Amino acid sequence: MIMAETEPEQAFIRIKYFLSEPNCNYNFTIMKKLSYLIAIIILASCTQKTIETPESPDFLEIFHKAQWIDLSYEFDENTVYWPTNAPFKHDTVFYGFTDKGYFYSSFKYTAEEHGGTHFDAPIHFSANKNTIEKVPLSQLKGPGVVINVSEEALKDPDYLISVKDFEAWEARHGQIPDGAIVLVYTGYEQYYQDREKYLGTNLTGPEAIPELHFPGLSAEAANWLSEKRNIHAIGLDTQSIDYGQSKDFMAHRILCNNDLTVYENLTNLKKLPETGFYIIALPMKIKGGSGAPLRIVAIIYK
Ligand SMILES: [Zn+2]
Repeated sequence: MIMAETEPEQAFIRIKYFLSEPNCNYNFTIMKKLSYLIAIIILASCTQKTIETPESPDFLEIFHKAQWIDLSYEFDENTVYWPTNAPFKHDTVFYGFTDKGYFYSSFKYTAEEHGGTHFDAPIHFSANKNTIEKVPLSQLKGPGVVINVSEEALKDPDYLISVKDFEAWEARHGQIPDGAIVLVYTGYEQYYQDREKYLGTNLTGPEAIPELHFPGLSAEAANWLSEKRNIHAIGLDTQSIDYGQSKDFMAHRILCNNDLTVYENLTNLKKLPETGFYIIALPMKIKGGSGAPLRIVAIIYK
């Protein structure tokens, strides 16, 4: 608001208004208005100076021109959870007109932490590590990169994302930047509404676990990302960073042990370029939480 009002054009409109205003008959009024005028001109010149400084980008303009993409699913009764978890529940407390004549609605929800589009805090698979509310804000954002493994992963539901997949991306774009949010597009987001195709089984409960088939990160790649690169988080479009057939959850254990955070059940990764965007990922701030629903957006600025 201050920026808009102090821009030279706006200042010029205000000058015109002051000079054409018919009630400028008294000296004190003129003095008062002149002092406003001087203040506006000073502010306008300061703003212009800020815009012209090359090392200070105009973030407002970048944000306005950028394309914002929502990478989160809605939560409803069909939201995908781990087969042994309870489904998401959203119940009506009140919906309608009150006896005082105004409309009012309020609902309540119950949910496990690790379903739908959600965030894993390091405590999820590593003792004494950060719980959700302790993950610093600085780790909830960063330059985004997309590693597209869909061609191989759609052919093989047990596909393990390998170091080679990351090296292939780096051969095209250079080293994954420090503080990056790495997103892996497996192509499985297209099956989200079809539980059997998405998870490999329609079963729920413990008997579903051996039947899970979907791609995930290899232990080798989890080690490489943790030790050879300096990233903030890794996310993908499947239910788990470990592949469906995993028995030891090594990707989770390695990433959490190295204080990295994980995003699962992402959507719209297909719409993202391989690079040239920024990620903001804000989980619900559950005190002591190991995971939480996540609202995540990509800001494409190129
Ligand atoms: Zn999780």
